[in-house]
Amino acid sequence: METEKKKMRLVMSKVITPELLLLILLPLIIVQTACSQSREWTPEDTEFYEPVPPIIESSPVFQEPPSDAMVLFDGEGFSAWESVRGGDVEWELKDGTMTVKPGAGNIVTKENFGSVQLYLEWKSPEVIDGDGQGRGNSGVFLQRRYEVQVLDMYENETYTNGMAASIYKQHVPYANVASPRGEWNSYNIIFEAPEFRENGSVEKPAYVTVFWNGVLVQHKAEVQGSTEYIGPPSYTMHGEDGIELQDHSDRVSFRNIWLRKLDESPVRQ
Ligand code: MG
Repeated sequence: METEKKKMRLVMSKVITPELLLLILLPLIIVQTACSQSREWTPEDTEFYEPVPPIIESSPVFQEPPSDAMVLFDGEGFSAWESVRGGDVEWELKDGTMTVKPGAGNIVTKENFGSVQLYLEWKSPEVIDGDGQGRGNSGVFLQRRYEVQVLDMYENETYTNGMAASIYKQHVPYANVASPRGEWNSYNIIFEAPEFRENGSVEKPAYVTVFWNGVLVQHKAEVQGSTEYIGPPSYTMHGEDGIELQDHSDRVSFRNIWLRKLDESPVRQ
């Protein structure tokens, strides 16, 4: 019986050569690739709900800008910013705080940046008028492409890769460190800009590290490409670009925004 099996295996290995196997599989691979490329993505395809990061209570760590920081917002005005639609920022400015004016559009720094340490403080609106992604949604877009999510996570549920401090639809934060609604949070973000070859391919992806209220929640997370609401992310070659804050129709507030340019450190050359 064993001998019969051995004979059969020998015959099969002679009949089904690697070349023949390739001939059989190649059309299948081509059809599979074509199908995946023409796939119609829905937003839900890239939303994940488990595991849910643990809730951690932490007194927010608030930090004034160090001596080498570039101050982007100190409560006095929007001199470092402009509307993405061109022209002046139309967000509200009151008591040293800027607040999204729904419908006024995103705002972006006038200056472009590479790798940075970016510090900012943000606060959800005290009045709840939505759920999930519709509650205190804003965002910090690094180089105008890669979003660190801002969202009211105090007793609010959403897909975990879209919660506050997520790299939106790419990386879930290690923990939910949300301050109570209406109280200030801090983000300390270390962003390593991507690098591209001359032909546009990725030499080095972007990496993001985030401390939320002083707690590490993203550690050198590898960014897979520009933030996408629908479909998978991908990279398109670009150079330095601005820091963008999102108008997602919620009255989210920001204050004390500063950054340090990491590429300029003589020790990193
Ligand atoms: Mg957002």
